[in-house]
Amino acid sequence: MDAIAGMDNVVVTRRSSLYGSAPVDADGGDYVNAVVQVLTSLTAHELLAALQAVEQQAGRERSYRNAPRTLDLDLLLYGDTKIHSHDLVVPHPRMWERAFVLRPLAELAPNLVSDQKISAVSAQQVWLLADG
Ligand code: AMP
Repeated sequence: MDAIAGMDNVVVTRRSSLYGSAPVDADGGDYVNAVVQVLTSLTAHELLAALQAVEQQAGRERSYRNAPRTLDLDLLLYGDTKIHSHDLVVPHPRMWERAFVLRPLAELAPNLVSDQKISAVSAQQVWLLADG
């Protein structure tokens, strides 16, 4: 979150609480998840590139598909914009399937995450680690 706050032309406006989750489609231990809202003059592709630079700085290795991740930053939403390019799809195509996305997102944008959407992923275990 601090690295995102330190990016040029990006202001972090809200941070969710931190949530623990078991890995989905991946090996290894539990994850820590959160969502941040930013205000930015970057395009969505510029923002993705900046997020990927932060991932690289965190020492992310892609040793094999679905390998455990040091840090995985996804661009969930970019205002109301819909994007379908080869390297960027927004809204993030799998966000509605993942409790570890919807629980923190619901804190920041309750209007986007209905109880019905939360119920649909309630079988996935997600637990509150620290209040935002
Ligand atoms: P992963 O790190 O496994 O989530 O996948 C990263 C890849 O997904 C990168 O090559 C991105 O170009 C691509 N991608 C497509 N849409 C998105 C998005 N909304 N947020 C982050 N990465 C995305």
